[in-house]
Order: sequence, then C-alpha cells, then structure tokens
Amino acid sequence: MSWTEIALLVPDDIKDAISGELSELGAAGLWETEDAIGGYTRLVAYFDKPPELDAIRTALHPIFQREGLDPPQLKSSSVKDQDWGEQWKKSWSSFPLGRRFFVVPSWSDSECPPDRDPLYLDPGQAFGTGTHETTQLTLEAMEVWMEPRKVVLDLGTGSGILAIAAKLLNARTVHGCDTDPVAIAVARENVERNSAQSIGLMCGSIDAIARGSVGFLLCNLTADTISDLLPEIQRAMRPQAIAVFSGILTSQGRDIRQKAGPLGLTVLQERTRGEWCALVMRNNGP
Ligand code: SAH
Repeated sequence: MSWTEIALLVPDDIKDAISGELSELGAAGLWETEDAIGGYTRLVAYFDKPPELDAIRTALHPIFQREGLDPPQLKSSSVKDQDWGEQWKKSWSSFPLGRRFFVVPSWSDSECPPDRDPLYLDPGQAFGTGTHETTQLTLEAMEVWMEPRKVVLDLGTGSGILAIAAKLLNARTVHGCDTDPVAIAVARENVERNSAQSIGLMCGSIDAIARGSVGFLLCNLTADTISDLLPEIQRAMRPQAIAVFSGILTSQGRDIRQKAGPLGLTVLQERTRGEWCALVMRNNGP
C-alpha cells in the first residue's frame, strides 16, 4: 500500500489547530518535527487516498488568515507504507514521562533509568505515543490526584498508555475502552507487553459503563466529544470520584466548565501546556 504525504511549515502556535483540520480532512497519521527556523514546526500528514490539495488549502486558509499569514505551501509526495513505519520508528525513541515513567518503544533496547518505571509501548496505528501534550497533562494529573486502589476507567484508551500507567500506579482495577477496534487490538498488545493483563479492554464507550462505578476517570478526547459525553460520564462516576478531562484547547476550557457545573462536576485544578489544558474535576453530584 502506498500513502500520500503532505508536508507544510507552520508557526508553532497554530500547529495544533492545523493538525486538527488535517485530521478532519482524513489524515490517517500526522508527524511533526521542529524546523530549523525557530518558532516553526514541519507538519507531515499521511493520507491513504491522495487528497484534494485545493480542499486542504480552503480548510487551512481561515487559520492562517486569522494570524495575518500567507497560506502555506503544500508539498505532496507518495511514500510506501513500509517507509512510513520505519522512518517513524527511527525518530521515536525512549523518553521520561511524568514523574515516574520512562517510555520504551518496543523496538528500542534503551535501559530504563533506575529511578523510573519502564512503560513498554508500540502505538502502531493508535493514538497515544506519550509525546503529545494532552497525554502528558492527563498522566501528570493522575500522578498528583489518583489515590491508590481506585477503580479506573480510561475512556478513549488508544494505545493503552494511560491505562497501563494507572495499573503501575496501583489502581485496584483498570478498564480501557475505545470506539476504534484497531486501538483496542493495539492496547491489548501493549497491556501484554507490560504484563498488565488484569486491565480489561472493551470496544465501546461510556454508555456501556455501569452507573456509579468509576472511581477515577481518564478522559483524553476532544472538547466536542467531552461536551457530548459529560452527562453519561457523570452518571458513570462514583460520588466524589475524580476525572481528568484533556484534549481541550485553552480557549475551550470555559465551555467545558460551564457544561460540567450544572451536572455537579466541580473543577479542582486546571493544568496547561502550550495551547492545551486539562481539567481535573470532582463529582459532587449524585
Ligand atoms: N488515551 C490515549 C489516547 C487518546 S486519543 C492518550 O491519552 O494518549 C483518543 C482516543 O479516543 C482515540 O483512540 C479514539 O479512537 C477514542 N475515542 C474517540 N471518541 C470516543 C468515544 N466517544 N468513546 C470512546 N473512545 C473514543
């Protein structure tokens, strides 16, 4: 199988907005590297069908226009499936995550530093490499706010990275769910890789979770999805349970707070990184 690669140079502060648009346009994978020019990121989006360049330009135009910038130049080329995987593997190496963990890609032979716990990972086609701010914010909030022996739900588990971290942080039981069957297959392999077989994985979403059953919720989705799911999420949480909501742009935080308040979810903390924020909330509702 071959892929079409679209590369463009974008200012750092709009790279997430641009990545979001490219995903909406059907990019199956996105890769970003810092550019030699300070303040810019080189974004590479991979499409399984050659996309319409004009459609991409039209979708990205308003974001560049808002910033008073000229539209970007798009470079399109064809790559073989194998090249993509191999290229990506070369540039993704082990790294420390949060206070406690050290992510080791399954193809790496890096040694984990003695003061950290290794988290072995191959994200395959799933989201959740640990390099994204939204994942880091969620994990760091869990390190601060999760008490031991909690019943944890990782809603939108992707590669399973947060579910595995929750288990390593002494959760009593951990469940991960995702609407994407590919993510569940990937998460299953990662769970085995970390000998964390007790983690329960399910293809599905919050509506399949029993009322009042979740003691600690990890929820790294998007602001729109979180907004839609909030009532169901609150229903699934135990009284006084804590949830970490991530995948929210700082500009969207207020909206989520406003929707959460009437449901009895009160904000304990807002953590930010770049243009992303994570909201830690307690369920004071029934
Ligand atoms: N938890 C990982 C991955 C987050 S990406 C991390 O923090 O890095 C978000 C994941 O949520 C994707 O795998 C996507 O398939 C899944 N998802 C999207 N909408 C969902 C929904 N309504 N219910 C459950 N999972 C969902």
